[in-house]
Amino acid sequence: MRIFFLDQSGKPGGAELCLIDIAKPYSHRALVGLFADGAFKDLLEQNHIPVEVLTTQTIQVRKESSLVQGLKSLRQLAPLITKVIKKVREYDLIYANTQKALVVGALASFFSRRPLVYHLHDILSIEHFSQTNLRIAINLANRCASLVIANSQASKTAFIQAGGRSDIIEVVYNGFDPKIYRTNESEINKLQQELGLQGKFVVGHFSRLAPWKGQHILIDAIAKCPQEVTVILVGDALFGEQDYVKQLQQQVADLELENRVKFLGFRSDIPQLMATCDLVAHTSTSPEPFGRVIVEAMLCGKPVVAAKAGGVMELVEHGLNGFLVTPGEPQELAQVIITCLQETEITATIANNARTSASRRFDVATINQQIAQLLSQRF
Ligand code: UDP
Repeated sequence: MRIFFLDQSGKPGGAELCLIDIAKPYSHRALVGLFADGAFKDLLEQNHIPVEVLTTQTIQVRKESSLVQGLKSLRQLAPLITKVIKKVREYDLIYANTQKALVVGALASFFSRRPLVYHLHDILSIEHFSQTNLRIAINLANRCASLVIANSQASKTAFIQAGGRSDIIEVVYNGFDPKIYRTNESEINKLQQELGLQGKFVVGHFSRLAPWKGQHILIDAIAKCPQEVTVILVGDALFGEQDYVKQLQQQVADLELENRVKFLGFRSDIPQLMATCDLVAHTSTSPEPFGRVIVEAMLCGKPVVAAKAGGVMELVEHGLNGFLVTPGEPQELAQVIITCLQETEITATIANNARTSASRRFDVATINQQIAQLLSQRF
């Protein structure tokens, strides 16, 4: 099957990293069309997946945009849509991986008569999107998509609650290659030394810096923990959240935590960095659609504490393969961090259980088979 994948982002967020795994098996006859240049294009090339940046003009519409802004951006989108319509003639299927890709893909699908698949990586609710954007996404998916792939039951439920058709949506979790998460001890010791982490109890947070990812909750929590507890914040402000970065730096200064919080920026060595941690924390204050970092930490054999909402509850069972805390509650989070610091044996058993079950549930080969099956059944 020849697939034309579309993604709006030049930067590698969770949806984009997932797309790399999905596109790989089709790479000899696929093209990934991007609406922005950047590090994601380089990653696709490194993975030998054909990629083309279809426009370098910024599309003004944002998740919270109004109808007027949306209509203005439609005019701006016209040349891009025309380009996609021309290119799609060489492919059997359009696979839209993001919301703006859905808008472009839906119109291109209508004019080219190619079927459309929409991979839904978001919880479509007013916590994350404006009413206008929600309505556009649901209407286009209902009318134009033959298949919607939701990244969790939580994303599927939100889609249906927002008016999405239940007969076109299926849940497929993100897939991971467990091999990538097995690391070498000497390499990890070296990294620990470089980062000055020896002898510390390291809590890792792996996410772009954005208010709803809740890095501020973790900083508040470690202020309530013993001195040896140190945090590494891995990730950058991918979508212009510079004010939040300043706010985090100020919070660290106000709490006098400069020696206990390290900002590492965006990194590509996630398995190695996770291996330097004693605990991985997920602290989103709004429901997370899936939460790749949680599965990645499990595959690294690290205990995970995660905010109890959205797709996270499909990944973590409290006390069995991780810990769940109320979103936005630093005191509760601090308590779990202290428990993991003290109860090392129980925590290690939980992390081992998590590694075994995550390797089975989220194996990329099985997940890719599920996608291949859905595509071959429907097209
Ligand atoms: N990530 C990364 N480098 C960083 C921070 C994060 O490669 O510096 C990766 C992380 O390992 C995960 C993805 O970005 O695979 C984030 O996905 P997640 O589902 O956790 O959140 P999203 O970005 O989709 O909201």
